Amino acid sequence: MSIREYIASIDPELVALRRELHQIPEVGLQLPNTQARLLQALEGLPLEITLGKQVTSIVAVLRGTARGDDRPVVLLRGDMDALPIVEASGEPFASTNGAMHACGHDLHMALLVGAARALCEHRDQLAGDVIFQFQPGEEGVDGCKYMLQEGLLDVAGRRPDAAWAIHVWSALDPCGTFSTKPGTVMASSDEFRVRITGRGGHGSAPHLALDPVPAMAEMITATHQMVTRRFSAFDPIVVTVGRVQAGTAHNVIPETAEFDGTFRAFSDAARDKIIDLLPRLFQGIAEAHGVELEYQHIEQYPVTVNDDAAADHVAEVVAELFGPERHSRWSEPLSAAEDFSRILQAAPGCFIGLSACPPDRDPATAPMNHSAQVRFDDKVVADGAALLAELAARRLAPARVL
Ligand SMILES: [Zn+2]
Repeated sequence: MSIREYIASIDPELVALRRELHQIPEVGLQLPNTQARLLQALEGLPLEITLGKQVTSIVAVLRGTARGDDRPVVLLRGDMDALPIVEASGEPFASTNGAMHACGHDLHMALLVGAARALCEHRDQLAGDVIFQFQPGEEGVDGCKYMLQEGLLDVAGRRPDAAWAIHVWSALDPCGTFSTKPGTVMASSDEFRVRITGRGGHGSAPHLALDPVPAMAEMITATHQMVTRRFSAFDPIVVTVGRVQAGTAHNVIPETAEFDGTFRAFSDAARDKIIDLLPRLFQGIAEAHGVELEYQHIEQYPVTVNDDAAADHVAEVVAELFGPERHSRWSEPLSAAEDFSRILQAAPGCFIGLSACPPDRDPATAPMNHSAQVRFDDKVVADGAALLAELAARRLAPARVL
């Protein structure tokens, strides 16, 4: 039986697993029920399993039994966490616990279990090892970082030679379309927090106080000017100030003012530049106003960069398995961010999108990932699992004896 035939034969189990996981969503780095259900799904497979110490991750290693001198290692990633959203999808298997798999990570787990089962079944055709990375805390809490600290990349005895992850979308492309691009696919993400301290006073006599509010206003305006004046239009950044806080009454000059924001970049160079420029910009304005500045930079995810050859290879494998019409090439990166970027910093690989737009929705208008109304069509699980398993199996195919 081929990998695809085998996965087709277990597809009802994978879809049932996805729906069960959908009903027990957990948020963040500690996902005990999700981890327990996955361990049950992997039970009996010839896998070396390591559980996370700081987080509820699962790392499973499959040792291929085909002979080969080189014995590469490949890594497949599936994230496990949900979002703090009250589900309003109307699905019969909707969650009722106040959290929601609104980013499709329940499908990612099901397709990684499917790939693991298929590769275990075909382990005699693998001349190398596979690492299955089940990762909590993708949604902004950097679960991948903890797994790297605990030795994820060395678990098979050799660093991965290739890595892949699939992410489902509920919209954008027709259902079943795989998509990616060479090079940068997602932005970096960083947070900044600013606190300005002046001297409070009466609103009628600002000259007797030191007003932090105009300093804050100038900092926010200057930030947006910096985006266009200091950065190339061909290597842009995105900056948003999303929280602003100052004062308690209309006629009181507050003692402090604060604001928080996020910045995204599409290259390490642009990211390094804004990391350097932003605090200097704020410090200069603070000095001009005579106020005190506290600036905090909270590092989140690096830029997600696909290996060019790996992205082209994915397009070829999709075309061969499912037909060329099932692959679409992104015209531009997304300004979202992903901690799979940390894996792609260590191993050449590819982050792949997969549309799971429901059949009754238009991909142009369907509610998108992270919406309380979002729905994903789990008929894509089998093909997603098959693609991951095929990419791994092809990389680990024994060299042909001539
Ligand atoms: Zn996601």
